[in-house]
Order: sequence, then structure tokens, then C-alpha cells
Amino acid sequence: MGNHVHVRVHQGMGVSDGGELIEHYHCRCGETWTKSYEVEDE
Ligand SMILES: [Zn+2]
Repeated sequence: MGNHVHVRVHQGMGVSDGGELIEHYHCRCGETWTKSYEVEDE
């Protein structure tokens, strides 16, 4: 396999137990990522 450029496909969103927004991404090669956002509780 040469240079593979991951393509992050947005898979969905969720909320963690801590109340953070979690975004899920995956690539067709099987790699997955999550990205979390802290939501401030005012
Ligand atoms: Zn990939």
C-alpha cells in the first residue's frame, strides 16, 4: 500500500456521559476517529 489519504466520512454524533458532543468519522480503510466538544455548562 502506498500513500493512502484518509477520507473522513461523517458517521454521526452522540453525547458522552459527561455531556460532551462526540462526532464520529470513519474512512473506507477502517480507520476511525472521534472528535469531542466540551459544552460549557453556564
Ligand atoms: Zn484511510
